[in-house]
Amino acid sequence: MDSISKTEDDIFKCRMCGSCCSGFGGTYVSREECLAISQFIGCDPASFREKYCSVSGSGYVLATSEDGNCIFFDDKKGCTIHPVKPPMCRKWPFIEAVIHHPENWNVMAGSCPGMKKDVPWDVLKKIISVKINNQNIAG
Ligand code: SF4
Ligand code: SF4
Repeated sequence: MDSISKTEDDIFKCRMCGSCCSGFGGTYVSREECLAISQFIGCDPASFREKYCSVSGSGYVLATSEDGNCIFFDDKKGCTIHPVKPPMCRKWPFIEAVIHHPENWNVMAGSCPGMKKDVPWDVLKKIISVKINNQNIAG
């Protein structure tokens, strides 16, 4: 298969290792996302922000537990808010920033064993553009 006909399955396969759910501060949540998650877990939005979020700049990120994992990560179940997890989590690793800065792909792959390293930049850009386009069409 020539490199330009590669698909997302050729460059990423999640190993379900949970690495991307550990560490502080990565997962930004908008007001709408806070509302969706708070409704999903049966909590009012103000309490949700207080109990499950941390302030980061002018916004919020999901808080971490004492074990250093995202507060919604469970060792056995994985993500416990899967149906409403934030876009950053749903899109990973096919995020728009990689189109503009494809060099970030290898950096991201350093902490995500599901990502194949050293993918040619033209291949990356094409796959991510198609993915984002499909997401936009699907709404
Ligand atoms: S770090 Fe990568 S391989 Fe591991 S769970 Fe997250 S997306 Fe999947
Ligand atoms: S919301 Fe879910 S997928 Fe996202 S970091 Fe937390 S546990 Fe992981």
